[in-house]
Amino acid sequence: MSTESRQQLIEDLGEFGLIGRIEQMFSATGPEILQGIGDDCAILDRGDSCLLLTSDLLVEGVHFQRQWTSPRALGKKALAVNVSDVAAMGGTPTYALLSLGIPRETPVSFLEEFLDGMRERALSCGVSLVGGDTVSTPSGLLISVTLLGRALRADLLYRSGAHSGDRILVSGPLGESRAGLELLRRGVPEKDPDLQPLFRWHRDPVPAFPVGAVIGGAREASAMIDLSDGLSQDLGHLCDRSGVGAVVEEDLLPISSATCKAAELLGEDPLLWVLSGGEDYRLLVAVPGPRVDSLQKQIRRAGCDPLVMIGELVEQRGLQLRSKGGKTKPLAPGGFNHFSPEKRG
Ligand code: ADP
Ligand code: MG
Repeated sequence: MSTESRQQLIEDLGEFGLIGRIEQMFSATGPEILQGIGDDCAILDRGDSCLLLTSDLLVEGVHFQRQWTSPRALGKKALAVNVSDVAAMGGTPTYALLSLGIPRETPVSFLEEFLDGMRERALSCGVSLVGGDTVSTPSGLLISVTLLGRALRADLLYRSGAHSGDRILVSGPLGESRAGLELLRRGVPEKDPDLQPLFRWHRDPVPAFPVGAVIGGAREASAMIDLSDGLSQDLGHLCDRSGVGAVVEEDLLPISSATCKAAELLGEDPLLWVLSGGEDYRLLVAVPGPRVDSLQKQIRRAGCDPLVMIGELVEQRGLQLRSKGGKTKPLAPGGFNHFSPEKRG
């Protein structure tokens, strides 16, 4: 079939092309809408404070395999990935809606454990579940969580606020979730205690709560995004929205010893997992150089772990990786895209 006559498919558009189409068709206007499509949350101005809204969908076989996780971890993760988006705006999560598509033959005990896990994560992040929807599916579990949050307008951090010269910082080690996923994919037994954190982070990532709100409240940073699709892709989104480029320093990238051990075991390059592994659920923060120390102080004072500097934003568009020897090379924005051939899970 010639390319002219072939019908365009969703996979031709890709995930971000599709979102772009939706954004074009539903241009959000109105004095209340501070942010529509295009950031980690939508933001509505409610006078005294702002309302944050975000929604994420987990699909069996795409985001998770039942044999590689537990219902409890799944429940915790379904909420955590949404908390991560609220944190990425500098907000505090508040209320959640849970929508479930469940195959009829699912054991009740599975659902009870799943809900127990979700309740545990909700309690730890101050979230109340206030509604949702329940339907049956012909096959496979489908979990959709919509999360609301709040923040003062002046505390909000968008993807678009960064400037050239800002430092790039992240809230923890990268690549751990992907390392855990690769260990599961290759059937590596879970007995080595050194590798435990990787399995754990893949199944049950801990969202950046309350550090996201602390960073927002400190009013020192200029932009923020959470790392869900991989560093290079998400840094690319922040750079695109801010109109800047970035230089990432390879020797500053935080890689845990567990990730290095897993990479050695599997004969993989841990750098690839760090740059484009996905599902890190760490925050990536842009901070003007002179304000980094004050931000770190406030983060420590709040009892959270300080951020790790990994590079700098620059005027020249595009992403660069500066290797240990000082050479720079282009950093392609690789990462997870729902309609690319590689499937998560
Ligand atoms: P994140 O990884 O932070 O959850 P996504 O990459 O999933 O963000 O989405 C990017 C932006 O596109 C977000 O603002 C999100 O709300 C919006 N978005 C994604 N899918 C849709 C959709 N089907 N309809 C409207 N907006 C969408
Ligand atoms: Mg996000």
